[in-house]
Amino acid sequence: MKNPLLVFNSNGIYCPKGDFYIDPWKPVDKAIITHAHSDHAKAGHRHYLSHHDSKSILKQRLGWEIKLETKDYGEIIKINEVKVSLHPAGHILGSAQIRVEAGGEVWCVSGDYKTQPDPIAVNFEPVPCHTFITECTFGLPVYQWPDEAETITQIENWWKENQQKGKISLISAYSLGKAQRILALIDQSIGKIYCHGAVHTVNELYKRAKKLQGHFPYLSSEIKKEALIGTLIIAPPSAVSSSWAGKLKPLSVGAVSGWMMLRGSKRRQNVDRGFILSDHADWQGLNKAIRQTQSENVICTHGYAEVFAEWLNQNGYNGMSEKTFFESENSEVDIEN
Ligand SMILES: [Zn+2]
Ligand SMILES: [Zn+2]
Repeated sequence: MKNPLLVFNSNGIYCPKGDFYIDPWKPVDKAIITHAHSDHAKAGHRHYLSHHDSKSILKQRLGWEIKLETKDYGEIIKINEVKVSLHPAGHILGSAQIRVEAGGEVWCVSGDYKTQPDPIAVNFEPVPCHTFITECTFGLPVYQWPDEAETITQIENWWKENQQKGKISLISAYSLGKAQRILALIDQSIGKIYCHGAVHTVNELYKRAKKLQGHFPYLSSEIKKEALIGTLIIAPPSAVSSSWAGKLKPLSVGAVSGWMMLRGSKRRQNVDRGFILSDHADWQGLNKAIRQTQSENVICTHGYAEVFAEWLNQNGYNGMSEKTFFESENSEVDIEN
């Protein structure tokens, strides 16, 4: 491509015409942030731009003093001769795809996205473009998500079984996005729900923004162990695999992740039950989203980028792959905390 609208350099995804970056991994002057997960929203940029709904979480994580401008979905911002706008990515609250237009050419950076509906995030909206930069965390045909409702019923039944056995149920889920999605969907009348501090902090921000309802207190060390029997505790993966969780007894541990689709994930994460629920698009979702953009060029990042680009090449697209430093759910460790 000659004079591409966006280029990958050592700092991140750069727009030479607008002199700004999208989700830069090194400190820059102007950064447009797709969403607040820590591999996309780094500290140290001079100016930030994001969706309104990412504001409190970005400030809470990066510092209340950061210079942050926020916009609504669809609002057009002119940066030099470049028109920039944010569009729903369906990944987590406030997550956005970034549409960039100059000289009649349109590019779109997906950030992380999913095509399944979500009770909290605004549903994914395809953006027609010439070049689409897509994530492909789950870019293999083996990844096919069941219905969200089916997974939630499985979690509820597991919780009830544990109650009958006199056990504590501990769920491992990302503290930003996944935990709140579960809380919004699960039947809260089954029993008491407690949240680990990292999850609780995000819950409070969501509640203040009127995006989450219910009563799920912070699990403080003052709560007696016996009082936890029959309850459900939601904690980030890093806490679930730490000695903190070992003190909760008798315990059943469940992990909620797209990786639970793979045999062996349960064993590797040392959990009793795996539940398939992801905030990323599955194989079908990726293919559908790409078709809907009507793009000719697709640049693949995250995870199975090379194989997925090859697949696109065989299917009439100009598929390419680029390396980024976004690796959230890939590593099976929780870097959100
Ligand atoms: Zn993310
Ligand atoms: Zn990511």
